[in-house]
Amino acid sequence: MTSLADLSATGPITVIGGGPAGSVMATLLAGQGLDVTLFESRPDLRRVDIDAGRSINLALAERGIVALRHIGVMDRIDAIAIPMAGRMIHVEGERSFQPYGSRAHEVIYSVSRTDLNAILLDAAEATGRVDLRFEQRLRGVDFDQRTLHLTDEADDDRPLEAPFGVLFGADGTNSPVRDATLAVNGGALVDAPLSHGYKELEIPPGADGDFQLDPNALHIWPRGQFMLIALANPEGDFTVTLFLPNQPDLTDDAHHPGGSFAELDSAEAVESFFAREFPDFVPLVPDLTKQFFANPQGRLSTIRTTGWSHGAQSVILGDAAHAIVPFHGQGMIAALESAMVLDRTLRQSPTDVAAAFAAFEANRKPDTDAIADMALDNYIEMRSGVVDPDYLIKRELALELERRWPDHISPRYGMVMFSSIPCSAVQARAAEQGRILTELTAGADSIDDIDWARAETLVEALTPLADL
Ligand SMILES: Cc1cc2nc3c(=O)[nH]c(=O)nc-3n(C[C@H](O)[C@H](O)[C@H](O)COP(=O)(O)OP(=O)(O)OC[C@H]3O[C@@H](n4cnc5c(N)ncnc54)[C@H](O)[C@@H]3O)c2cc1C
Repeated sequence: MTSLADLSATGPITVIGGGPAGSVMATLLAGQGLDVTLFESRPDLRRVDIDAGRSINLALAERGIVALRHIGVMDRIDAIAIPMAGRMIHVEGERSFQPYGSRAHEVIYSVSRTDLNAILLDAAEATGRVDLRFEQRLRGVDFDQRTLHLTDEADDDRPLEAPFGVLFGADGTNSPVRDATLAVNGGALVDAPLSHGYKELEIPPGADGDFQLDPNALHIWPRGQFMLIALANPEGDFTVTLFLPNQPDLTDDAHHPGGSFAELDSAEAVESFFAREFPDFVPLVPDLTKQFFANPQGRLSTIRTTGWSHGAQSVILGDAAHAIVPFHGQGMIAALESAMVLDRTLRQSPTDVAAAFAAFEANRKPDTDAIADMALDNYIEMRSGVVDPDYLIKRELALELERRWPDHISPRYGMVMFSSIPCSAVQARAAEQGRILTELTAGADSIDDIDWARAETLVEALTPLADL
């Protein structure tokens, strides 16, 4: 039985990775009165532009806000966050707005990824207990000698060694801490790549410097097998992401010619694809083809692991343990939640770190597995569901049921984005609600045809949401 404080006598409490999970974990450990060393392979993003001038944003919702409030940074985040009250769907040159929730506070936020990360690094530094070491890349872990092998990226990859007492691996999808931990504990990793990739583009501000689209909506151009989305930045521009199959599936009748990254291999192919699929988008981006070839194509994958810890020596969290596809805007949020859960678990088991690490995985994995599944489902919803009549009537009904019986029913999207109900409970509840929506909408052309007495019986039989 040993505490983190005891273990810090064997070597520094060490966090690998200064992204969202690592910087928040370091702040929380410092809050337990511990001194922490954090190694980050990249330069300090507060001083160096690591995105090559591109603004890249992400969506932030309730679960992430809870974590950010907990570490006291929400005032600074509020100042840079742009509220988005719903989806703006772009189809055949027409726009239609679908609110995210039935209540005014049910909005999500567009936040610059770099600015958010900078605020989290500031918070870690402000504890006075976190020693941030940039441009130092972990290469390997020697658990027997409690030694880290690193390279100094600022000094021609000069090899370095550093002792550690306990290792927190928040080093993202290619985590060396995870690989070292699984190698000694016999855990498993399943990396399920999506056959679709992504590319980020930018809609610049208009001639007057103002937004070319409504900044308070998440814009979607759904096209069945693929989609474009756009989220506003405070500078008047939008970060756009094209999600598209990597290869053409010529056996699928739904494949649009040119609708894969492999086919977009020339300026002509890109221009004709965008002109055909997104004609109302093209005038918004004067240098579209140039951007398309200048910006990298990203890979998307779901990573599920077992064996998140090795005794009291190491533990992994965030994308290192549970990377998900981005379609629910929940990957970073899950990383922040994991840091909170790990901190809480360590406080509940202060004298047995190994037991706390094991309990963390046992408690947390069902929720990260659930959000991984729901994120995959949401891709179908965003790229095709949002224009499907069956989806639309069920969505309208779900919002109306929530309006009438708010204590008993909430659409799945709302439970994920606007509540802190554990994601495994959300997934099970959404399946139960889905059966109710299917029964009530059978044969209905609009929600005017719904049998409200039957709806009341079914909804009131559900466990109240507060008890999930
Ligand atoms: C296209 C896209 C859109 C997304 N949109 C959203 C969204 O809207 N909302 C949301 O919540 N999430 C979103 N995500 C997911 C989100 O980006 C990740 O889940 C989140 O960044 C995970 O945080 P992390 O700290 O675990 O890992 P990371 O952010 O990957 O941070 C890991 C850190 O470790 C460092 N590192 C890596 N290897 C080493 C090493 N060997 N030594 C030292 N340091 C190392 C890295 O440089 C990095 O700083 C999106 C992801 C993608 C790909």
